[in-house]
Amino acid sequence: MWKFLCPKRHVESVQEINLHDLKEKGIKGIITDLDNTLVCWNDEAVLPAVTKWLKEAKEKGFQVCIVSNNNKERCEQLSWNLELPAIWQAVKPRRRSFLRALKMMDLQPYQAAVVGDQVFTDILGGNRLGLYTILVKPLSRREFVGTRCVRQFEKVVLFGLKKRGHLK
Ligand SMILES: [Mg+2]
Repeated sequence: MWKFLCPKRHVESVQEINLHDLKEKGIKGIITDLDNTLVCWNDEAVLPAVTKWLKEAKEKGFQVCIVSNNNKERCEQLSWNLELPAIWQAVKPRRRSFLRALKMMDLQPYQAAVVGDQVFTDILGGNRLGLYTILVKPLSRREFVGTRCVRQFEKVVLFGLKKRGHLK
């Protein structure tokens, strides 16, 4: 169970993800969460650092795709703003949407990374398929009330993973 909840990497923000390292690992595609990973929850403003990182990723030849549990309207808007394809109402951690993203990018699970701010959706979903999972710290403390409750369990899991030496 711990294995499925443990991200391969834990970083402060997307811009700290080392694209060179990902390349070295043979990763060709990045499946990224939207809310509190690329933009603050319920906000459309994109930080310049995030734009820069996405641009760099594309220049390095990575395919990037948004997979979000949020609705069509929000995802379409941000998909347009960020110039990235998006899959909405993804029902993460279910595998279906991750598989759709892989198919869209024409990649195998070992060739893709998942980036997200939540253990029970992004990381669990990605690990179930054997994707390279990267947990980022949420961009803002504002979020959906349900998510805020889940964060309490998430804290326990992250503490447990650290204690067991799984999480660096
Ligand atoms: Mg999120």
